[in-house]
Amino acid sequence: MPLSPVSNPSSDLYRVLVVDDDPTALLLASQALGNAGFEVIEASDGLTAIDLFQHADPDIVMMDVEMPGLNGFEVCRQLRNLPCGKLVPILMATGQDDIRSVQQAYDAGATDFVTKPFNWQILGHRLQYMIRASNATEQLHELQKSEVRLGNAQRIARLGNWEWNFKTGEVYWSDQLFSMLGIRRGLLRLNYRSFLQAVPAEERCELRYWLREMVRSGSTGFSSGINHSLSHKDGKRLNVQHQAEIFFDDDGNPSMMYGTVLDVSELKQAQDQILRLARFDSLTGLANRSVFRQRVTMAMDQAERQGRLGAVLFLDLDNFKRINDTFGHGIGDMLLREVAVRLSNCVLPVQQNSADESEMPLVSRFGGDEFTVLLPQINQVKDAEKIARIILETIGHSIDLAGQSVVITPSIGIAIFPHHGDDVDSLMKNVDAAMYYVKEAGKNSYELFVKSMNVVAKRRLELESNLRRAIERNELSLNYQPQVELGSGRIVGVEALLRWNSPSLGFVSPVEFIPIAEETGLISSIGEWVLREACSQARTWQEQGLPEFRIAVNLSVRQFARQNLDKLVNEVLLDSGLPVHCLELEITENMLMDDVEGSVETLHRLKALGVCLAIDDFGTGYSSLSYLKRFPIDRLKIDRSFITHVTSDQGDASVTQAIIAVAHNLGLSVTAEGVEELEQLAFLKEYNCEEVQGYYFSRPLVADDLAQLLHQCKGVMALPGKSN
Ligand code: C2E
Ligand code: MG
Ligand code: MG
Repeated sequence: MPLSPVSNPSSDLYRVLVVDDDPTALLLASQALGNAGFEVIEASDGLTAIDLFQHADPDIVMMDVEMPGLNGFEVCRQLRNLPCGKLVPILMATGQDDIRSVQQAYDAGATDFVTKPFNWQILGHRLQYMIRASNATEQLHELQKSEVRLGNAQRIARLGNWEWNFKTGEVYWSDQLFSMLGIRRGLLRLNYRSFLQAVPAEERCELRYWLREMVRSGSTGFSSGINHSLSHKDGKRLNVQHQAEIFFDDDGNPSMMYGTVLDVSELKQAQDQILRLARFDSLTGLANRSVFRQRVTMAMDQAERQGRLGAVLFLDLDNFKRINDTFGHGIGDMLLREVAVRLSNCVLPVQQNSADESEMPLVSRFGGDEFTVLLPQINQVKDAEKIARIILETIGHSIDLAGQSVVITPSIGIAIFPHHGDDVDSLMKNVDAAMYYVKEAGKNSYELFVKSMNVVAKRRLELESNLRRAIERNELSLNYQPQVELGSGRIVGVEALLRWNSPSLGFVSPVEFIPIAEETGLISSIGEWVLREACSQARTWQEQGLPEFRIAVNLSVRQFARQNLDKLVNEVLLDSGLPVHCLELEITENMLMDDVEGSVETLHRLKALGVCLAIDDFGTGYSSLSYLKRFPIDRLKIDRSFITHVTSDQGDASVTQAIIAVAHNLGLSVTAEGVEELEQLAFLKEYNCEEVQGYYFSRPLVADDLAQLLHQCKGVMALPGKSN
């Protein structure tokens, strides 16, 4: 009776490779196994067997142990070493009671052995069982492999999963879930409660509710997930995204639940970092502008509801740009960080008195060198002023930055809510106006907002926006005011004075717009324009045949602090063709004293070009005589404020005399500014002041008018009591 193959998925016959050197045995095997439903392939020696094995792809091998050449053990070993030979069952035919051969066959990798003579019918069945067992092993092997793959994938994805059988109470956790919790499998009795134990207490309630809702829903399916934390055994916390699916039986009772737990800690950390960056200033670590505005909005609401007061302080560092330009951005950054620390310390006492977070003060970096402080609750306006005074005192102490001692002062505006604004925008606008008021009034102070400040702030804004376009619209021009030598009446120089005639704002004084140009940085282009224009005008006059005289150009603070000022001056001189000695640069004494060492260096570099240097507005600043000696200057210009009352005020007269004496002692020449009256002129002449400038001789004139004046007087102004 032919045997039918037990589990051959295709209708093909199982293929058996029979290896035997005995032709009779081969023939017998072929017949018997053919009858038993096998396709038989024959090999009469070991090498043929190895060759056929690779090409015919047999399901099983039956092989005699005793063969000449390669024996059965050797062939078996070689087959097992082939990539396709690992799992194919190999049956070895040994002699009766040959126990040694049996052992050797196993060692060589045989699957089973059979002793001669064979019972062919049983042998057919035996081969079929062996094939089936081998298939099952193969499937098991595949299953194990895919479980390993799944485990790897779960580990890489940080995805754990669980199952919960409601009928039996059985719970399964995947390896990855165990490893997420840092627990070894087998050490924990698995149930619903053991999972909850791993969830931080404050989050359990929400998780329970989520699961309960799924059960209560009564319908099979997937729920929207929940995010919560898990505690790893070593104490660290994981952030996970938990999802689950529930199944109900026909009676509507929950039967199974499946869940996945995805570790999203790294993602969460990245999100937190982004959030931090969006909320905090990366340089100082203080809250940023948007956080500050949110907190002010909240504080304003609260103050209104509770009928209480709060305050906002707006700080801008005085002359910070100059420090940045002079010392470089690295030092500038260090300075901002130090200011942040000091500011935070200033509000610490208030912080310690506050009960809840919404009452705590908040310090923020609003941008650039601007800082803000929120005091959400104050008892009286005086409290805010007190904090402003503490801030002025604290920040004003010199700061040691990389071996450099730097002093920085703030200008502080204060606005009180609800008085000074209905919403955060109007409050911030007003506190900004108060801060600007302090700047205008001389900086390094604080001021409480009053309505009139808005007028000042509005004007400033108008000036700023119009000034941005002033150069390109040709709204700037220069006037020239003669400087007259007292001994001879000769016009020895002219000072170039900037004029701005704005179509919308009218004539604006340089006293008003130069500081704005300084703060906004517009001064570098404006200053360069002045320098070029003045030099080329002076050159034009020379070309017109007018007598040679100096042209004095005022330098602003930021221009002076510029690293390559000497290069610019040199370039402008070359471009215009003006002889170097015809250019004089006026620098105010405060500019020099801000950074004495740097100034000495800059002045020397300018002096090396051959230009003349004058200190403008002398007497109004805080020059020290010992420093004056170190500056390579040519001239002092006595400030107009002393000259105005020089004949009526004994103090001003003394100062003027002293300045002239000091200048002469140091070998410097003196120009008096703002001379309007004959008496002033007489006084200056008596004390041997070399030159004067003022309305007495001429107001600042446009270029053509000055040329005409020079023509008319032939370069010499009439002096009292002296005819020319
Ligand atoms: P300053 O350099 O001290 O210029 C002298 C100022 O006194 C000028 O005012 C001039 O018009 C004025 N003045 C001259 N003589 C008399 C007088 O007899 N009586 C009175 N009452 N005033 C007199 P101005 O042109 O308004 O300039 C004011 C300041 O603006 C200048 O003071 C200077 O610091 C600045 N400034 C002017 N032009 C420039 C410029 O091109 N660049 C820079 N950085 N600053 C400039
Ligand atoms: Mg001047
Ligand atoms: Mg002056």
